[in-house]
Amino acid sequence: MQTDNTSPITISVRQSTGTYIAKANGHKATASCTTGPIQAAESLARKIGLAPSMIQEQQRDGLGYGCSRFTHPGELATNTSDSAHCTNCGICHTRTETCIEAKARFGGAA
Ligand SMILES: [Zn+2]
Repeated sequence: MQTDNTSPITISVRQSTGTYIAKANGHKATASCTTGPIQAAESLARKIGLAPSMIQEQQRDGLGYGCSRFTHPGELATNTSDSAHCTNCGICHTRTETCIEAKARFGGAA
């Protein structure tokens, strides 16, 4: 299930009885959130190792009620803060190591 390093990803969010459920094309992971569609999309982005700040909301034209769509450039999250402590994943790693790699090194089973 390895995609290209930077292929754009579409995240679709659907509302179901007060819960927003986010899915991304090419990924099996889903994320749910009751706060709002953007939060659900960000939560999913974190789950699959993408930089959550790079999500962009798309036009809702043609989408059903309660549906939102977001795109992400596909850039993997890395430590973009100026300190060793990564604000994305909470692990101390460098800018050149992605959060996915840091988590793998940490032994966290995804
Ligand atoms: Zn990180």
